[in-house]
Amino acid sequence: MTESAHPAPRPYWFGLISIMPALIEQISEYGVFGRALKQGGLDLEVFDPRRHTVDRHQTVDDRPYGGGPGMVMLTEPLLAAIGEARAAAAGRGVDAPVVYLTPTGERLDQDLVKEFAQCPGLILLSGRYEGIDERVLVTAVDRELSVGDYVLSGGELPALTLMDAVARLLPGTLGNAASAEEESHLDGLLDYPHYTRPENAAGRHVPQVLLSGDHAAINRWRLKQALKETWLKRPDLLAGRELGKEERELLRELFAEGLGA
Ligand code: SAM
Repeated sequence: MTESAHPAPRPYWFGLISIMPALIEQISEYGVFGRALKQGGLDLEVFDPRRHTVDRHQTVDDRPYGGGPGMVMLTEPLLAAIGEARAAAAGRGVDAPVVYLTPTGERLDQDLVKEFAQCPGLILLSGRYEGIDERVLVTAVDRELSVGDYVLSGGELPALTLMDAVARLLPGTLGNAASAEEESHLDGLLDYPHYTRPENAAGRHVPQVLLSGDHAAINRWRLKQALKETWLKRPDLLAGRELGKEERELLRELFAEGLGA
C-alpha cells in the first residue's frame, strides 16, 4: 500500500449539543467559519438531545426539585447526546473534552482560545432554561466556560463565540495568517487603529506614517498605538505584562506627550 508523503491534515472537529440545531446551522453558513467548513479545515456536527427522548412531546426539561422558577434540563437526553457526540469523536480518532457553556464557568479569554485550538476537537454542551441537571455536570462534563459575567438564555451563542474564536487560529482558516497574529489580545495588547481608502474621510486624514512605505516606522507606530489603546481602555492588561525595551521607550514617549495626564 502506498501512502501520500503529506496526508491531508485532519479537520478540527466540533460536536455541538443543542436543542436548537437550526440556530447553529444558519449561522455556520457565513463568514470565516462558514468558509472553513466548506473548505474542509473544520467540521461541525450537531447533536440534538430531543432525538433521545421517548415521549410524544420530546420533553427535555422538568420542574426543579425543591421548587423555584424555571425548568431544568433532564439528565437522560443530555447524557445520551453526549454519548452520541463522544462516539462520533472516537469514530474520527478525535479526543475531545466535553465543555459546558455556563455563566458559572471559567471566563473565556484569548489564552484559553489558544489552548482549545491545540486540541483536535471539542464537544460543546449548550444549556437552556435554568440550566442542566447537576448530575450531567458531575458525571460527563470536563470543563465549564463562561463568555462573560452576564446571563444569556442559551449556550448556543457562547458556543458559537468559542467556535469562531478557535477557528480563526487554525492554520488556513484566515486568508492571511498574519491577520490572526496581529489581533487584539494575541500578545497581550489591544489592536492598533486601522485605516483604508480614501486618504481623507469624515474630515480626517490617514496618519502620514502609514503612507510612507517605511515598514520599520509603520511597525513602531502600530506598537505605540497598541500600547496607547491598551493604556486607555484596558490598563489591567499592561499591569500584568513584562514590557520589552522598545515598549518601555514608546510608553515613555506617550507619557511625555501627555498620555498619563
Ligand atoms: N440559571 C443559570 C445561572 O444563573 O447560572 C443561567 C441559565 S441560562 C438562562 C441558560 C443557559 O444559557 C445556560 O445553561 C448556559 O448554557 C447558557 N449561558 C447563559 N449565559 C452564559 C454565559 N455568560 N456564558 C456561557 N453560557 C451561558
